Amino acid sequence: MKTPPSPMQCPICGGTKRQGKTVFTVDLGFGVVVVRDVPATVCSQCGADWIPDDVTAKLESIVQEAHKKHHQVEVISLGA
Ligand SMILES: [Zn+2]
Repeated sequence: MKTPPSPMQCPICGGTKRQGKTVFTVDLGFGVVVVRDVPATVCSQCGADWIPDDVTAKLESIVQEAHKKHHQVEVISLGA
């Protein structure tokens, strides 16, 4: 039996991942969407982040909305 790597260990630097928040940015070509306060797992050492699937789905719908609005800059916060 092999022990799987700890889900809380960063595969990039071996540091410890912890629950935190990140900023998600998308370049749509005509403009940029910035989503702040995105819940994510963030490495305390190198700062790499992992966004959970349910949050990714939310971000995708935000990006779709942004496409319709066609704003040059859209800043959204996911924070409650
Ligand atoms: Zn790391």
